[in-house]
Amino acid sequence: MNFQVTILGSNSAKPAHGRFMSSQLVNFNEKLFLIDCAEGTQFRFQDFKIKFLKISHVLISHLHGDHIFGLPGVLLTMSLNNRSEDLHICGPFGIQDFIETVLRLSQSHLSFNIIYKETNPSIVNNIYVDNNFTIISFPLKHRIPTQGYFFREKYSEKKLNKIKIDQYEIPYQFFDRIKKGEDWTNSQGEKISNAELTFENPNPRSYAYCSDTEYDEGILNYIQGVDLLYHEATFMHELSNQALKTGHSTAIQAANIAKLAKVKKLLIGHFSSRYSNLKPLLEEAKSVFINTELAVDGCTHIV
Ligand SMILES: [Zn+2]
Ligand SMILES: [Zn+2]
Repeated sequence: MNFQVTILGSNSAKPAHGRFMSSQLVNFNEKLFLIDCAEGTQFRFQDFKIKFLKISHVLISHLHGDHIFGLPGVLLTMSLNNRSEDLHICGPFGIQDFIETVLRLSQSHLSFNIIYKETNPSIVNNIYVDNNFTIISFPLKHRIPTQGYFFREKYSEKKLNKIKIDQYEIPYQFFDRIKKGEDWTNSQGEKISNAELTFENPNPRSYAYCSDTEYDEGILNYIQGVDLLYHEATFMHELSNQALKTGHSTAIQAANIAKLAKVKKLLIGHFSSRYSNLKPLLEEAKSVFINTELAVDGCTHIV
């Protein structure tokens, strides 16, 4: 199943050096989730040919402008494109008031319903579940209530060995039971073991989004062993005091979290606009955690 993350914006407070502010698209099995929606996100939909009408959920980390000021525009554009499906918007308390106030004052009427899920970011919240994967939110440490998001594929059923299934001419009605681990007994009473008929599924894949946050080992519980970790790295480490003061992290701190959590890959982003060249941030992070990449607007990462 497809599981990928596309960066729509990788900068912090303001746009600079061709980088927009925070927004990402998670595609899981062609189900689209928008994480954060900074000003200009809908331009990124055009730039990167995103099928934005297919977005079913918008997940907001916190109510700072560089994470939500693009949302009213996106909603209006969806409406102008005659969207009819419900849109789920999840975020900390206040997100509904923000959207409804903008829509009311601008006398905007949408062609679709919004289903809100307002959360308390200081606790873990179940955000989404279906047969294939789950999303939870978890607390981040920032200047205002903020939550990260954790996407995880479910422990899925075994995969059928198609060659063996055909060889034994097993009717499709039995496929689900075999995927769950049952053996197969044919009409002659011969028992075929489940191990012969299936492959073990690889470990379920996972993705964690941590922005914005100061250095906080408290998040390790939630992101342990994640396949892909997006962690903000607003500053170089020489500005660690500034990072602490503003509730942000440095590249070294992001890498430390990745190392302690034993993640497979780290993606750093939410860069300060004081950096036109991001190479030093990458090098700094790599000095602690080698498998680090820069979030680059328009790039897609396979989880
Ligand atoms: Zn931010
Ligand atoms: Zn913020």
